[in-house]
Amino acid sequence: AIDENTAVAMITHVNYRTGAMHDMAALTRIIHQAGALAVWDLAHSAGAVPVDLNSAGADYAVGCTYKYLNGGPGSPAFIWVPKRLQNVFSQPLSGWWGHKKPFEMSPEYQPDDGIGRFLCGTQPIVSMSLVECGLDVFGQTDMATLRRKSLALSDLFIELVETRCSEFPLQLVTPRAHAERGSQASFEHPHGYEVMQALIAHNVIGDYREPRILRFGFTPLYTRYVDVWDAVETLRDVLATEAWRAPEFAERGAVT
Ligand SMILES: *Cc1c(COP(=O)(O)O)cnc(C)c1O
Repeated sequence: AIDENTAVAMITHVNYRTGAMHDMAALTRIIHQAGALAVWDLAHSAGAVPVDLNSAGADYAVGCTYKYLNGGPGSPAFIWVPKRLQNVFSQPLSGWWGHKKPFEMSPEYQPDDGIGRFLCGTQPIVSMSLVECGLDVFGQTDMATLRRKSLALSDLFIELVETRCSEFPLQLVTPRAHAERGSQASFEHPHGYEVMQALIAHNVIGDYREPRILRFGFTPLYTRYVDVWDAVETLRDVLATEAWRAPEFAERGAVT
């Protein structure tokens, strides 16, 4: 789809539905060959998989801090800009945090020289404190270690679902190849919505995503192997007893 008519390619690095991960460096090369800019969405990558925007040659990236970065609801979004572009981009959401000298009170807006110009202001301060706590935990480990644990967790989950729940119509939609997988595993089931509601009622918290997809995210900082085992046994139980057929699990809420 990328050709000489493309100006900007905005690509989600890890697909929110299937968990499939793009090769960021290879795609960025293709985008640049077409003369376009590569903007990466890191919503399901930051804190979940190693991300090297500089070696990929990425132009811009955006993401959120409330998923794998542990900020919780309301925590701030982020933008990444390489040094070479920081001074040529103008930030449409200018605010006093992005001003070079806000307390000069000059009548003109003068953006800061570096990455500071991308700040808005004022982000709710409590939300910043929470994400700071979430990020502190990463200081006790590193992304290579987290990636090893994350893949071990999703490998174990896939293996257990395919062996313990083999008599049920569950179809893996997440790539098996490690290089093509984020930190989640998704399975299709003809009654995915109802099955996920039943799982949540049994304290296994995943998401339902259209169409028919059960999505399970593995946050390697605190998800344990025993949690994976227990989740699959609960899934097996919900399917074997057909607990998901209870009418309350067919009611559609605003959030799935
Ligand atoms: C969660 C998510 C975002 C973040 O969106 P917000 O507007 O910051 O809540 C962006 N892209 C994708 C694909 C997401 O899943």
